[in-house]
Amino acid sequence: MWNVEVDKDKCQGSQECIDACPAAVFELVDGKSDPVYMEECIGCETCVEVCPTGACTVTEV
Ligand code: SF4
Ligand code: SF4
Repeated sequence: MWNVEVDKDKCQGSQECIDACPAAVFELVDGKSDPVYMEECIGCETCVEVCPTGACTVTEV
């Protein structure tokens, strides 16, 4: 299992994570990325790599 977090203060709604995530974990909610389908995460950390503001963190739980 993976815990995916988006720091809402850092997120600028650029959607790179939404476009890049192979498991479609994220949706844009009120202009911010929200990991609403976190249970689908495969832990690839692509979202961490593509986010320009370092808002995404992924940790194994
Ligand atoms: S680690 Fe990979 S699968 Fe998980 S939310 Fe990020 S991009 Fe999607
Ligand atoms: S890539 Fe980063 S800044 Fe852009 S929507 Fe995702 S979390 Fe927000």
